[in-house]
Amino acid sequence: MTQEELFKKLIAHCKEYGFVFPSSEIYDGLSAVYDYGQNGVELKNNIRRYWWEAMTRLHQNIVGIDAAIFMHPKTWVASGHVGAFNDPLIDNRDSKKRYRADVLVEDWAQKQEDKINKEVEKARKRFGDSFDEAMFRQTNPRVLEYQQRIDSALQRLNSALAEGRLADVKQLIEELEIACPISGTKNWTDVRQFNRMFETKLGSVSDDANSIYLRPETAQGIFVNYLNVQKTGRMKLPFGIAQVGKAFRNEIVARQFIFRMREFEQMEMQVFVRPGEEMQWYEYWKQFRLRWHVAMGFGADNYRFHKHEKLAHYANAASDIEFRFPFGFKEVEGIHSRTDFDLGNHQRESGRKLQYFDPDSGQSYVPYVVETSIGLDRTFLLVLSSAYCEEQLTKDDGSTDERVVLRIPPALAPVKLAVFPLLKKDGLPEAAQKIMDELKFDFACQYEEKDSIGKRYRRHDAIGTPFCITVDHQTLEDQTVTIRHRDTMAQERVPVSSLRSLLTEKVSLASLLRQI
Ligand code: ATP
Repeated sequence: MTQEELFKKLIAHCKEYGFVFPSSEIYDGLSAVYDYGQNGVELKNNIRRYWWEAMTRLHQNIVGIDAAIFMHPKTWVASGHVGAFNDPLIDNRDSKKRYRADVLVEDWAQKQEDKINKEVEKARKRFGDSFDEAMFRQTNPRVLEYQQRIDSALQRLNSALAEGRLADVKQLIEELEIACPISGTKNWTDVRQFNRMFETKLGSVSDDANSIYLRPETAQGIFVNYLNVQKTGRMKLPFGIAQVGKAFRNEIVARQFIFRMREFEQMEMQVFVRPGEEMQWYEYWKQFRLRWHVAMGFGADNYRFHKHEKLAHYANAASDIEFRFPFGFKEVEGIHSRTDFDLGNHQRESGRKLQYFDPDSGQSYVPYVVETSIGLDRTFLLVLSSAYCEEQLTKDDGSTDERVVLRIPPALAPVKLAVFPLLKKDGLPEAAQKIMDELKFDFACQYEEKDSIGKRYRRHDAIGTPFCITVDHQTLEDQTVTIRHRDTMAQERVPVSSLRSLLTEKVSLASLLRQI
């Protein structure tokens, strides 16, 4: 199965098992907007809690807030979003399709990259064991020519974008002879800037003064509240503020399911530090955040850091944590050292002092900020795409079967324990219900009595339930049940009285937090 096929199956699975639905589907959906179903919302809540507890409970100097989505419009002037949260747009006049001009050039560069890789593969076949790939890439004239074209095009694109020379971006697209993938023509409009913030009106009077934005990131709610928290919590530097909430971006190229959405959720933390100490905190948070990811158990080699070589003007260091999604290594989280850019700008724009009085040095200054910013929906996709597994099984009689199992870390699974009575009679449903009633205060449990036990196992494999127990006639005699493990499918007989401690050890959030 190719990665593309796997991804398609995952999307279908998400819908079939109540994880993710297209938004307003009965009206044919809304592009790049999704709803979470009955299992999706549980998984999402669990990921959110895993992040929240790891950031706040494991760090005494980090506290949370929940700021409003609407903020004073000047916030977005100070943050730079009004001036610079733009994408360069271009339309094809024949297909009437709209593209991001930079993405067109980047896709072109990817095609050249593919050509290089083909040359490499051809040469590998030709030279066999003696093939030296690095040497080939450095010396083969055709590869060098492709590479030179890629480098020069991307360099031209970046400098034209940085300096706002949109006519040059269009000229580059024409020179590279990029055609619209739909119409196949090169009949392009001019490139123009498009601000990705959603604008709406506050109050009943529709004039410009009431224009307001849906926040494109949660961070600004933290910056404008930093002194409130510092003073009321009597926080000393370094201290951090964490927040989870919705963000909205009018993405032009929305694709790859919930990877790029127009309404999504971010989990952000800004830590306020003494100027000059930011690098040590930047390094700490890079490592901590990576450990948080790796603790989920999807393989350390599926993650990598991508260091930003070209830094935004306000940052003095920035890295992404990239994960190997079915469509390649992509950003899931950013760790940025943002200097005093945000607080400094808010201080200027609001006219309010946002300085911290440092009791140790006796000085007042605007703190520096290191932030970690991760997409909740993107993490959800990371978990599901790694957990999704199709398995061929050989049954006792030699025949084969298959199952789809979601190997979600038990602490994050939507349902922790499924409780089945073997039959719908002889007092078994009542006995099963009694076990449920005892455990439901501590764990998400689900009771099921429909269909054969085998079918019930399959249904719970498909939503990632780590444990199923079956209540049978023996249970009534000796208070034991059969517990079945999701990953190994092994079954064992255990006393009902041991279930709570067994589950606590395996599925509690604490057990996952300890692994960070
Ligand atoms: P990208 O380059 O993918 O657009 P970004 O660099 O603009 O992302 P940030 O502004 O740093 O992203 O946002 C932090 C995190 O928020 C990202 O790492 C990602 O996980 C998440 N995120 C950003 N945009 C979206 C989106 N449109 N849909 C879902 N998640 C998003």
